[in-house]
Amino acid sequence: MKPSQYADLLRANPGATPLREHAEALYLTSSFTFTGAAQAAEFFDTPGANYIYSRFSNPTVAMLNERIALMEGGEAALSTASGMAALMTIIMATCEQGDRVLCSSSVFGATIQLLSVHLAKFGIAVEYLATTELDHWRQAAEKGVALIIVETPSNPMQKVMDLAGLAQIARDRRALLVVDNCFCAGCQQPLSLGASLVMHSATKYLDGQGRVIGGCIVGAKQLLMEKIYPFIRVAGPALSPFNAWVISKGLETLPLRMAAHSKTALALATWLEAHPQVQQVLHTALPSHPSHALAMRQQEGLGGGLMTLRIKGGKAGAWRFIDALKKFSITANFGDSKSIVTHPATTTHQRLTAEEKAAIDLTDEIVRLSIGLEPEEILKADLEQALAAAAFNAQCH
Ligand SMILES: *Cc1c(COP(=O)(O)O)cnc(C)c1O
Repeated sequence: MKPSQYADLLRANPGATPLREHAEALYLTSSFTFTGAAQAAEFFDTPGANYIYSRFSNPTVAMLNERIALMEGGEAALSTASGMAALMTIIMATCEQGDRVLCSSSVFGATIQLLSVHLAKFGIAVEYLATTELDHWRQAAEKGVALIIVETPSNPMQKVMDLAGLAQIARDRRALLVVDNCFCAGCQQPLSLGASLVMHSATKYLDGQGRVIGGCIVGAKQLLMEKIYPFIRVAGPALSPFNAWVISKGLETLPLRMAAHSKTALALATWLEAHPQVQQVLHTALPSHPSHALAMRQQEGLGGGLMTLRIKGGKAGAWRFIDALKKFSITANFGDSKSIVTHPATTTHQRLTAEEKAAIDLTDEIVRLSIGLEPEEILKADLEQALAAAAFNAQCH
């Protein structure tokens, strides 16, 4: 995010009242009143021009939308009830029966479920690509494509896609490139690299304190208002104003938090890489990451707060490590101020078939860490004792 975008984000508040409140008002209301029957009829006749009902629009949600657009350097943004609702909305609003979707196989588990189980029923075909090689994506796109969906870096394997290259492939095929930008909220702007739409699970870094579920979609105003908004208005994946308010306040500290998460994560990743109990560390700011240079160009030089470890000792070793950690919560979320540890193969990515897991190299010794805002030395000491406990127990068995 550019400094000027951040400064504008802090003050973006289209719903300011004459009462001169400094923090933003929370419009916790499901509907808005009319001065008379004639005004009601007029407002219903001009959709989008006035507040009518909070499934359609709401001033607190509008404030969040403005802030999210600034965060992504996009023309406009719309919010949804969750990250998955954002993805569902994008697909339902832009795809037709018979369309083909190309999706990276290294994406959030529920994304694969949504495409393979629920949308396949409606005649939307999906092909997954395990590769980050642009040539393979170009070849796959030649068979026709409406939507290309990627995460970069991906969850949990930290695979990095060349966004400018992928955007060119999408343009050549008149397809839309959709980027799930969850991992690099506030430090990567895929729209500036040619993406058509950016989506987030606002549940993660945008809230940043693990409080509410939310999602958003960012892109060109015309695409959003002509295709995406009509679906949200009638299908109802709208975000609650309360959640919008919480996420708006979270956004006010996003760049500071992301810089802190990234700094601590890189220091710990560097240290863990040399630890005998750790087979591999995946973090894009490490020079050993296969796409380090590309990631640093795309991500304003930041690696983010997530890292993926391969712990020695298989699933048992990974679980012993997880159970021995004291300063990391065992929970499926990430992007919180509190550090979190997750075993993707048996939780967030449990529903993937053995084949799907193999395609992205997701094995049982993989552990994902979301580094919070705790001081580095506290986390380091905790990781050290947990790795020692995992190794000691291995010797006992
Ligand atoms: C969490 C997550 C989602 C889904 O978001 P929800 O808010 O849980 O619906 C989508 N993509 C990624 C990368 C995520 O981490």
